[in-house]
Amino acid sequence: MLKVIFPGSFDPPTNGHLNLIKRGATIFDKLEVVIAVNPQKEYLFSAEERFSMMTELVKDYENVDVHLWDKLIVEFAEKSGARVILRGVRALVDFGHEFELSMINKGLNARIETLFMTTDPKYFVLRSSAIKELVSLNGDVSAMVPPIVEKALKSRLLSGNKSP
Ligand code: ADP
Repeated sequence: MLKVIFPGSFDPPTNGHLNLIKRGATIFDKLEVVIAVNPQKEYLFSAEERFSMMTELVKDYENVDVHLWDKLIVEFAEKSGARVILRGVRALVDFGHEFELSMINKGLNARIETLFMTTDPKYFVLRSSAIKELVSLNGDVSAMVPPIVEKALKSRLLSGNKSP
């Protein structure tokens, strides 16, 4: 069984992430979305909120699971028996960072391979940080995120209801 893990912050999940999950799930037998919980990072949504949004969004995919993880991604891969990490690249600027990360992961565990999948041109400009900024300025993000995420973003960013 060919298993892949798709790690990220998913703060929040976007249509770009979901597009990658959908395509990845047709190539691999099993895709595990790994939501990073990094105490050094400040997130808009808590780990539980990101987990519950992602779980709802992938519920129709039989071969996709969602996990929260607060350790190294290569440790998750080792534990779950996956040999492949899937990462998305939108533009050349992503590539430098993604390449460096893959080198770090290779140094940590040479058995694990990172595969890059290019974005679908439809989602070329989708970036969680830009989407948050747009929502906070009352911009329309309905083509960029699923309805449940749009609702969560509006209630978090427009009503001053910040995560602890
Ligand atoms: P991280 O903080 O680990 O970069 P993100 O949630 O921003 O986590 O992204 C998770 C993965 O999804 C990354 O590999 C990122 O490049 C990819 N990704 C994000 N948006 C898109 C998109 N629009 N098209 C393709 N890949 C994307």
